[in-house]
Amino acid sequence: MPNNLPFISRRAALRGFAAASFGSLLPTDNPAQNVSTTSQASPIVTKLQPWRPGALDIHHISTGRGNVAFAVCPDGTTILIDAGALQAAPDGDSDEKYRISHLPDASRRPGEWIARYISRHMPFGRQPEIDYFILTHLHSDHMGGLDLLTPRPAMSRLGPYQLTGVMDVHEQIPIKIILDRAYPDYNYPVELNDPHQLNYRKFISSFAKSGGTVERFVPGSSRQIALRHSSPGTYPMFTVQNLAANGKVWNGKDHDAVDTFPSLKTLATSDYPTENKCSVALRLSYGGFRYFSAGDMDHDVTYGRQPWGDIESAVAKAAGPVDVAVANHHGYVNACGASWVGSLRPRAFIVSAWDSAHPTIPSLGNMLSEDLYAGPRDVYSTALKPENIIATKRLREIQSGNGHVVVRVPPSGRSFEVAITTNLDESDAMIAKFGPYETKLQGK
Ligand SMILES: [Zn+2]
Repeated sequence: MPNNLPFISRRAALRGFAAASFGSLLPTDNPAQNVSTTSQASPIVTKLQPWRPGALDIHHISTGRGNVAFAVCPDGTTILIDAGALQAAPDGDSDEKYRISHLPDASRRPGEWIARYISRHMPFGRQPEIDYFILTHLHSDHMGGLDLLTPRPAMSRLGPYQLTGVMDVHEQIPIKIILDRAYPDYNYPVELNDPHQLNYRKFISSFAKSGGTVERFVPGSSRQIALRHSSPGTYPMFTVQNLAANGKVWNGKDHDAVDTFPSLKTLATSDYPTENKCSVALRLSYGGFRYFSAGDMDHDVTYGRQPWGDIESAVAKAAGPVDVAVANHHGYVNACGASWVGSLRPRAFIVSAWDSAHPTIPSLGNMLSEDLYAGPRDVYSTALKPENIIATKRLREIQSGNGHVVVRVPPSGRSFEVAITTNLDESDAMIAKFGPYETKLQGK
């Protein structure tokens, strides 16, 4: 049947229809594309309005291949948190079958899609530029992994490293400052030298040699990440509180953090903190709005043998209640525990998904549980594997299961909205909009 709606693809129209009418999951002809939404969604097919000075936008970009969040801060300062890119795996199909298909498609690498997305959403009149890149931890789905199948993978023209993830982004859009958990040593708790990490380290060396700034993320600091396009004091309501890295957790005092991991001397090498547990965590505030992001932290205590392993609970307690929380470890089975949910109590959860177990039944159950905190809450996922929709029934209760998830806080910092835009192409067509939600602290 021909599509008679001007400017609206038949698929988009169908998805809007499903969103409004059935509150159901609607598989499309691409197995990676599935929409889940309740009757709260209004079917909107319009383009996302550009960022306005004084507003805070946080885009959770849906590539299906890793985490990436791009924030445009009130003065136009741009912050990129992670730029994951899972590329061809050495065991090919056996890994691929668990993964979400490339979005919008595999004609470009995930990092190239991310760079193009960022270019479209830069503050008006500014050349594309990233003020801060913050890497939560050194895994491929956060920094970019090597393509191990292609005989001649793409190499950078800027240095001796393969293009992937953040390296693909920097190739297109200059990054000014990079913060990660391990610079310059990259040796805690062990030498970070798998092939993907070595590629990232070559990028960091080349970046620093060519004049870029690289710093180790300082847990407890509220000054390491600051607005860079306005004079100090212009937006006093905006702050980024560094919460944790390498098991050091903010203790509520300025620039201060405490160790929660035991000394490595007391541990067997096999019990060392994992890369996931060492993740960077931060809380971004604007007026009454609070946003939490902590990479792949989890709460796995190895059947009680490593009580310090529940790092996510310690960090959530340090953060306190927030409005929006990015699900730890993609909502995997060892993350987003009851205590994490109960401390953060967000109005909106965002799952950045690339696997058939993102999110899992227990994590989603915690997010939805009114036993852990009272009141409504909405869950958004950047994508869902069709198999997961079958396995995890409560996914039918989430607001959106496919598309870029854009959080927008107006200049007052007293409310926020969530827009879902298409990941099928680069049109930035809005599929649905939710909110406005009042912020917990109401601009205090
Ligand atoms: Zn991850």
